[in-house]
Amino acid sequence: MSALEVSVDYRAITRNVEVLRSRAAGADVMAVVKADAYGHGLAAAASAARQGGAAWLGVAQPGEALALRAAGDTGRILTWLYGPAFPARELVMADVDLSASSADVLGEIVAVTRELGTPARLHLCVDTGLGREGVPAGSLEALLDLAVAAQDEGLVRIVGMWSHLAWADAPGHPTIDAQAAVFRDALALAERRGVELEVRHLANSACTLTRPDLHFDLVRPGIAIYGLPPVPDPDGERFGLTAAMTVRSEVILVKDVPAGHGVSYGHDYVTPYPTTLGLISAGYADGVFRSAGNRAEVDIRGRRYTIAGRVCMDQFVVDLGPVTEVRAGDVATLIGPTGPTATEWAHAIDTIDYEVVCRFGALRAKEPA
Ligand SMILES: *Cc1c(COP(=O)(O)O)cnc(C)c1O
Repeated sequence: MSALEVSVDYRAITRNVEVLRSRAAGADVMAVVKADAYGHGLAAAASAARQGGAAWLGVAQPGEALALRAAGDTGRILTWLYGPAFPARELVMADVDLSASSADVLGEIVAVTRELGTPARLHLCVDTGLGREGVPAGSLEALLDLAVAAQDEGLVRIVGMWSHLAWADAPGHPTIDAQAAVFRDALALAERRGVELEVRHLANSACTLTRPDLHFDLVRPGIAIYGLPPVPDPDGERFGLTAAMTVRSEVILVKDVPAGHGVSYGHDYVTPYPTTLGLISAGYADGVFRSAGNRAEVDIRGRRYTIAGRVCMDQFVVDLGPVTEVRAGDVATLIGPTGPTATEWAHAIDTIDYEVVCRFGALRAKEPA
């Protein structure tokens, strides 16, 4: 085993998409596969999501959309995060749906489609309160004027309008209804301008799971596709989702030490009794968060152990207790289907599971195929 072995259960991704489709029965699913599918591998995760019935794929970066086409995906793909210097020509030629948040970007799209003679499919993005991508609601009308003029010229087809929520993972937060109201006003404005939208979309994973009234025509789950519920399931069943990523390493040394023995740099852990230490061959150079020292847990032979002391560059230690069956050569599971979960790691080190899977996934991407 290499220092850290990151593997992905792609069948879990297929099943998770099926679960989300049944939870969003009236809407289509756009599987969000940005950032190398949250570290799970862009092309393989996308293909697993398609098998589960994802009618759409969503990516932030234009290059990711083009990579999906290069990998052979022929379905609907939306990309949304770029400035006016984006590869509009390649994207239109690759039949990718394009988002626009500004007149600059729309101008670039129109310049290209005028030259190519092929209209682009356009999704107007509205900032309903996130303060991130999207045209401010107060400036939507001006952008809509430009888009409708381009549509009348046959240069674009306005197929979508969308927005993104700031507090979807806090069900009941007042901003959710406030953003939904601004979004509905934006849709009404488009309708008054005679725009016939194919897809209106607002819901990320949390909104998909908790607010069926906000599914509109299309939901855009990301984290839930990978089996990590962004909100607790009231039924305690993880909404039927299965975590797809496993991260494992190896116990390479097991040894007995007396009470009062300092462990790892700075002796942040000192053995409270005569005990056995296990040395695991993965560290921060492999993606193991240094902040996990004395906080996060690993599983060895079905038992949980907290990391003892500081995580080093390529190793860390666990206190196996005075009596242990653990032997050198045993597998240490950092993240696995029966735990610890990426969410537990996130809570231990004060981040979110999104960052945990992206971090470990970056290591997976480096491995030879
Ligand atoms: C990342 C992202 C999503 C998916 O969010 P999750 O919380 O992972 O479900 C959906 N829409 C947009 C615009 C995003 O950037």
